Amino acid sequence: MAKILAIGIATLDIINTVGSFPVEDDEVRALSQQQSRGGNATNTLSILSQLGHDCAWAGVLIDEPDSQVIKHDLTKHQIDSSNCVVLDQGKMPTSYITLNQQTGSRTIVHHRDCPEFSFTEFKKINLQQYDWIHFEGRNIADTSRMIEYCKQQQPNLPCSVEIEKPRPDIDSLFTLADVLFFSKNYAQSLGFSNAASFLSSFAISINASCAWGEKGAWFINKKMKIIHSPAFPPEKIVDTLGAGDTFNAAFIHALLNQQAEQAALKFACQVAAYKCGRHGLDITYFKLN
Ligand code: ADP
Repeated sequence: MAKILAIGIATLDIINTVGSFPVEDDEVRALSQQQSRGGNATNTLSILSQLGHDCAWAGVLIDEPDSQVIKHDLTKHQIDSSNCVVLDQGKMPTSYITLNQQTGSRTIVHHRDCPEFSFTEFKKINLQQYDWIHFEGRNIADTSRMIEYCKQQQPNLPCSVEIEKPRPDIDSLFTLADVLFFSKNYAQSLGFSNAASFLSSFAISINASCAWGEKGAWFINKKMKIIHSPAFPPEKIVDTLGAGDTFNAAFIHALLNQQAEQAALKFACQVAAYKCGRHGLDITYFKLN
């Protein structure tokens, strides 16, 4: 078991499941509605916690009724939130998600009135106790200071960064992190149509994965070797929300367990596929075949 800290956001997810995706200006009735905790960093922690790790989250909590769902879920997964900043003004980040029952696709409208977790707050954390730190690629100026600070204070503490969306200066994080998790969405935003050509486009040497939905995932190591794992289709795709966060968690778990890159990539795809076959992020009954 390792002690893992993640920096990023927790959200309230309001998920409307629909029979088919609505056309613009349509009015449709949801088949069901569910409210749950979301957010990339906390999703990744909830999977890592189920894989047996001792997890802590550092982010911002707003003291308002919608934070209850979030706090309840963090407690359920024994995720320590004592490093969080708690504010009495604002609104927890909220994702309004349309989940298409036919395809499992998830379309998200996001709203927030919540500041980012700052470098000043980060410096108050005792980093010595952790075996791994995972960051969301957001709040770029502060995040790069946080990683630089980690490298000064704890040079052997591995730092991973999830790069989900293009943001100004996000590439300044690439050389700082030990492991980068790129999304298909990020690679496509730069004009790439496949993960291998995206990963091989880097002039710097990095350890980085790029997950590509039903095509599986690719990884490049610092020797510029690219490997691939296919996806492992579940019987039915039920819900792909959080598949990338699950992949990232399982990959971190495998690396912490000293697995080789190819085995780690395969394991991450297997856990992510299991997640796609069911609603939510409960992987209690995941078993390797
Ligand atoms: P994101 O949540 O960032 O959109 P992806 O859709 O790229 O993430 O999925 C992450 C991983 O989840 C993929 O690498 C793959 O292993 C698994 N996965 C996603 N969609 C499917 C699918 N339809 N079938 C099997 N595995 C999938």
